[in-house]
Amino acid sequence: MADNISFIINQLAEDRELYFNAVAPPIIQTSNFVFNDFKTLRETFADEFSGEYIYTKSKNPTVDILRKKLAALQGAEDCVVTNSGSSAIFCSILANVKAGDHIVSVAKPYSWAVRMFEVLLPRFQVTHTYVDGREVENFMNATQANTTLIYLESPNSFNFHLQDLEAIAHFAKSKNITTIIDNSYCTPLYQKPHHLGIDLCLHSATKYIAGHSDTVAGVITGSRERIKKIFDSELLNSGTSISPFNAWLLIRGLRTLEIRLQRISETTLKVVDFLKNHPKIERVIYPFDPDFPQYELATKQMTGAGGLLTIIPKSVDYQDIERFCLSLKNFLLAVSWGGHESLVMPKAAGMNPEDYDKNNPEHRMIRLYIGLEDADFLIEDLKNALAII
Ligand SMILES: *Cc1c(COP(=O)(O)O)cnc(C)c1O
Repeated sequence: MADNISFIINQLAEDRELYFNAVAPPIIQTSNFVFNDFKTLRETFADEFSGEYIYTKSKNPTVDILRKKLAALQGAEDCVVTNSGSSAIFCSILANVKAGDHIVSVAKPYSWAVRMFEVLLPRFQVTHTYVDGREVENFMNATQANTTLIYLESPNSFNFHLQDLEAIAHFAKSKNITTIIDNSYCTPLYQKPHHLGIDLCLHSATKYIAGHSDTVAGVITGSRERIKKIFDSELLNSGTSISPFNAWLLIRGLRTLEIRLQRISETTLKVVDFLKNHPKIERVIYPFDPDFPQYELATKQMTGAGGLLTIIPKSVDYQDIERFCLSLKNFLLAVSWGGHESLVMPKAAGMNPEDYDKNNPEHRMIRLYIGLEDADFLIEDLKNALAII
C-alpha cells in the first residue's frame, strides 16, 4: 500500500479529523507551540526530532504531512524538507564529511554543489576528485583511504550523463562510503535510488515537485538514522527548514505530479521526434531516445525521463543561438525547469561571445524544458525559430 502513488498523494498523512474534516490540509502558520507540563517540554528539548512540536524551525504539522508523503514516494524511512535544493545539497554533504576527508563526485554536478566542493569545503580541509561518471571504474580508481562520500547526479541536468547507481552503491558499501544522489531530474516517481542501495537522495523540489514555478524548496530522503543526524545538526544549525506556506504549496504540487509528468513525457517524445528529423539539428540528447548512448542503462534504472532535453544545432554563430532563443515565443528564456511553462537555456548565454567556438558542439548546446503546453503548439514555435537561423 505504501508504494501506491495514488494512496500516497491523496491519503497518506491526511488525518482530516484533526482539522475539521477539511479536504485540503491547513497551513499551520505559527512559529512556536504551547506545552502544558515540564516533562514533555524537557523531553522535547532533549530530542526535537522525536519530541513534540516546539518550534517551526524544527517541526511543523503542515511540513510533517509533506515529509511523510515525500519519504513514501521516494521509498525512504524519513526525510527533511528544506527551503531550497541548494540547502538540501549543503546539509546532506556537510553531514557526511569532516576535516581531512575526501569526496569523489561525478563531473559537472549542479553549480552550487561545485561551489561547495571548490570554494567552501577546501577551507575545512575537505578535498574532492571529479570523475566521468559513465564508467563505474572511475569511482573505484579515484577512491582514496580517506574517501567518505561519493556524490552523484544522474542524469546530470545539462548533458544527461548517467551513473550506474546499483554498481556504485555496491562498491561504496564495500568501502563504508556514504552515497548521495541529486535525483531532481527524475523526481521520486521516475527513479528509486534507495532501492538500488544509495544512502541519501536529494531533490530541488523547486522543479517538478512544486511544479508551478512559484516556490523554491528542497528535500533529502534516507534512513531515519541518517535523516535524524542531518536534522539534529546541519538543518537546525543552518535554520534552512521550509516554511509552512511553502510546504503547503508543495503538497498541492504533489497532487498533480504524476499526471504532469505523464503529459510532459508524452509531449517531450513528440518534440524529440520532430527535432531529430530537422535538417538544422546535429544532435538531440534525451535519455529515453533509443539513440542516446546510455539508453540501456536509462531504461534499466529510470521509469521515465520527463521534459529536459538538449539540442545541438549544426555549426552556427553565437548570434544565431541568440536569435533562435529570442525568436521562440512559447519557450521562455529563463533558468530553472519543472513548472508549467516551457523554457530555453543555451550554454552560450553563460559565455562571452569572444570565447564561443562554433566548432565546439558543447558551446552550441541549447537546453529545452517541455512544460504542459500542447505538443503541436511547441513544435510550431520551434519550426518557426529554426527557420530564422
Ligand atoms: C535547481 C537545481 C538544484 C538547486 O535547487 P534550488 O531549489 O534552485 O536551490 C539542484 N540540483 C539540480 C539538478 C537543479 O536543477
